[in-house]
Amino acid sequence: MENCIFCKIIKGEIPAKKEYESDSIFVFHDITPQAPIHLLIIPKVHINSMNDIASLDPKVTNEIFQVIPKLAEKNGIHEKGYRLVNNCGSYGGQTVGHLHFHLLGGRHLQWPPG
Ligand code: AMP
Ligand code: ZN
Repeated sequence: MENCIFCKIIKGEIPAKKEYESDSIFVFHDITPQAPIHLLIIPKVHINSMNDIASLDPKVTNEIFQVIPKLAEKNGIHEKGYRLVNNCGSYGGQTVGHLHFHLLGGRHLQWPPG
């Protein structure tokens, strides 16, 4: 997708601190971390938001959710816990229109969100 910042990160056109990559997914560190660990997990195929998850190959959806606890373990946050976030649409606080999941951990996170 032209002009999508996350597609550009996947292609290496914009630098990012890569954490993990497979044929189907890309994981990198958020540029404005909201917790000591703040990763973004994205499918390589461009999908606008959670509203369009049905158009993602279920194998890729599964891969995303399978990799999350592995990333948590690698980053030392699996025991104390972490939060997985998807912001969808303007009311959900989505600012980048490429489906992504935030993995946040390393501090005690408050609830409810603002
Ligand atoms: P959201 O607000 O849920 O759409 O999340 C978008 C996230 O992308 C925000 O947490 C931003 O800090 C992050 N972000 C935006 N641009 C970049 C970038 N170039 N590299 C890494 N993270 C980014
Ligand atoms: Zn994209």
